Amino acid sequence: MKKLIIFTFFYSINLFSQDIPAKWEELTASDWSLALEKSNKTCILPLGILEKHGPGVPIGSDLIRVRNWASKATEEEYAVIFPDYFIGQINEARHEYGTFSLPNKLVMELLEETTREIARNGFDKIIIINGHGGNPQMIRYFIQNQLYEKKDYAVYFFEPNFSKEINNEILLARKTDPLKDQHAGEREASEILYLRPDLVKLDMSNSESGENLKRLNLSNNLYTGIWWYSSYPNHYAGDQSFGSIKLGKIITDYTVSYLTDAIKEVKNDTITIKMQNKFFNEVKQ
Ligand SMILES: [Zn+2]
Repeated sequence: MKKLIIFTFFYSINLFSQDIPAKWEELTASDWSLALEKSNKTCILPLGILEKHGPGVPIGSDLIRVRNWASKATEEEYAVIFPDYFIGQINEARHEYGTFSLPNKLVMELLEETTREIARNGFDKIIIINGHGGNPQMIRYFIQNQLYEKKDYAVYFFEPNFSKEINNEILLARKTDPLKDQHAGEREASEILYLRPDLVKLDMSNSESGENLKRLNLSNNLYTGIWWYSSYPNHYAGDQSFGSIKLGKIITDYTVSYLTDAIKEVKNDTITIKMQNKFFNEVKQ
């Protein structure tokens, strides 16, 4: 009987040990092969940024949001999550405290070498998820650059496109005009209120303006880098005083559910790497 109890005890410890962490930095080296197997060699790279988020929402909001999405989604569908990464395109906020902005060549090189290092550790599918509005153009360019030289891994960019029904539900839960809510307004304040209410200072929200000053009168046929500063000199676009936990929960839950599906899709995807290999074989080098 005693033997049976001891056996059951060790057996359950062994089963429990199969439940390994998703975060790269929390894994042990002895967990690594199991992590590769459980994730089907899939690693998530959550990109945040350090920038002012109006007067009352934290500098690292984008990082907080992406890391929470990744943690919640991997509870449902396992993948390894790369540690905190907050290097990206944020030139437009260099006039505000809290902004951490590195030279553009270094930003691209760091992303290239980070994905290469992730792959060297056994992963062949990397999903970039992004929380910062100034990053998507950079990420798409980075992903297009993946075709420059032969790689034995693929990089994907998760960009949730909510259904009409979900967008309507979000619209109904909102109090401000979504077209005016461009940065650190109702939407982002709500998400952080839901995830980290201890960091939000809504009483500071109206200490400066998040209105569009429309100081640049170019037609929409022309794009120039200073458009953002010209419109929103406080790097704040919207009104965070309308933030609500309810809206934050709706947006977070749907984002996590879309991300969970995307992780499943990538884990089962064998075609992308096959297509990449076929393409590289046809490229004359
Ligand atoms: Zn943000």
